[in-house]
Amino acid sequence: MSNRYDSRESCNFYYKIGACRHGDKCSKRHVRPSRSHTIVMYNMLYFPAGGLDNSRFDELYEDVYIEACRFGPVRSMVICENGNDHLKGNVYIHFESEEDALRARDSFNTRWFDERPIYCDLTHISDFRDAICRKHDTRACERGDECNFMHVRRPSTKLRIDLEKSQAKKWHTRTP
Ligand SMILES: [Zn+2]
Ligand SMILES: [Zn+2]
Repeated sequence: MSNRYDSRESCNFYYKIGACRHGDKCSKRHVRPSRSHTIVMYNMLYFPAGGLDNSRFDELYEDVYIEACRFGPVRSMVICENGNDHLKGNVYIHFESEEDALRARDSFNTRWFDERPIYCDLTHISDFRDAICRKHDTRACERGDECNFMHVRRPSTKLRIDLEKSQAKKWHTRTP
């Protein structure tokens, strides 16, 4: 369907969070960016009913992060542990360059992760601060699965620092 004459207003959730609970049935417009620094992989991580323990989560985080770094410097990576369908297991990766984000999207879209096909798209997000549920960070979000903001699951500090260091080294050596 062409959006050329679409007068609906743009969906704030799709714009700010890259995902909206109404999906294609949303009464507002979901306008895909044609260029962006950030990609999203919808429902990429599977969180079993009992949850993921920290070491398994770190393993998965490392796996995805290292894969993303092959395309170029990564500024940040965010994984959602929301329980609702539109945010559950979403992985967002903010690259330093739009070209790298585009190449990463095209490549991830041809691949599988944990026996499921990856569905990857560009997203408008350039700053996660507007998208993250702050209350979840202190386990105080009362909205639970109704919350439309990102409930971020973070890796251990040690892993995060190790990954950032190894990435800095990798991209430094490639720059003359
Ligand atoms: Zn929407
Ligand atoms: Zn929340």
